[in-house]
Amino acid sequence: MVPFFPLKRINAEFETQLSEAILRVAKSGWYLRGKETENFEENFAEFCGMRHCAGVASGLDALTLIFASYKIMGKLKDGDHVIVPANTYIASVMAISKNNLIPVLAEPSEETFNIDISKLNDLPLQNVKAILSVNLYGRQVDRENLLKFAGENNLLIIEDFAQSTGIKPYGNAAAFSFYPAKNLGALGDGGAVVSNDSELDTLVKTLGNYGSQKKYLNDYLGFNSRLDEIQAAALSIKLPLLNEHNKKRNEIALRYIAEIKNPDIILPTPGTQNVWHLFVIRCKQRDALQKHLFERGIETIIHYPTPPHLQKAYASSNLIHNKLPITEKLANEVLSLPLHQTMSEEEIKRVITSLC
Ligand SMILES: *Cc1c(COP(=O)(O)O)cnc(C)c1O
Repeated sequence: MVPFFPLKRINAEFETQLSEAILRVAKSGWYLRGKETENFEENFAEFCGMRHCAGVASGLDALTLIFASYKIMGKLKDGDHVIVPANTYIASVMAISKNNLIPVLAEPSEETFNIDISKLNDLPLQNVKAILSVNLYGRQVDRENLLKFAGENNLLIIEDFAQSTGIKPYGNAAAFSFYPAKNLGALGDGGAVVSNDSELDTLVKTLGNYGSQKKYLNDYLGFNSRLDEIQAAALSIKLPLLNEHNKKRNEIALRYIAEIKNPDIILPTPGTQNVWHLFVIRCKQRDALQKHLFERGIETIIHYPTPPHLQKAYASSNLIHNKLPITEKLANEVLSLPLHQTMSEEEIKRVITSLC
């Protein structure tokens, strides 16, 4: 079997260092809000080219805490509208709804899978105060036009970087996920908020700690959302190799693009910045193709079969959108192929020949 994302194999590269770090933290007697987290936050901010990083418990929490902080800062208020791509992972949309903000779903471009900025003016924009830009599958959103649109409409740019660790954020705030299968994966859940805004950074850290800056003094109704010391130590070990791993992903992706020749398959295009979190092809007979690949020993996954607006969770919730034919079509056609830094030559060839 060519596995989709063999975590055991992927983390084996770090086995000695991870074992040492886990033991070190275990023996230290200090498990939360300590040196490991501080050290990772500092290094990760620098890696992103930003001044601040706040470690939190997950990618969803990173997004949620950004919106919650902007509400406290007075930049957003209950009922404000936030543009978000309709074909993203549902966590992006949930973070908006859970803050009593209203998601305005936007169609993606069929070519990039990312939000189609040229169509944003078709949406009702009167109450829109922010845009949540998602670099889906690892590919950077059209930065120039996003900045132009946000500037013209005076919008905060919040970036969902869960799938794109390795490219540089540039918006007002960026949310990262260290879920084990992301490009930079922890040994459990983890996330971070990165920005150049010290007020936002302090608020995210405070909200993630029960709204408390000073022990037993609570300024806000907060959350418990902190990156723990073991996860921070593990991430510090893996971060220095991330660029190399992303480069390897890029090499494999470019080979797939050059060597998969099949008239029934639409291959992705690289774009200018892409860390290939996922290699997503399109096929009208997607389910049959998935079965065919499975029979040939290739494991694939669909990201994502049901878009947020068609989920039960949103059956009676407030969402604003026009018809979403592209989102719905993509949900029926997309299929993700195995792609990771530890793929062997034989596995890469097997994926390619099984598709040709
Ligand atoms: C994974 C993911 C999230 C959520 O991150 P978690 O760490 O799993 O909470 C949010 N947005 C996108 C686009 C994701 O892929």
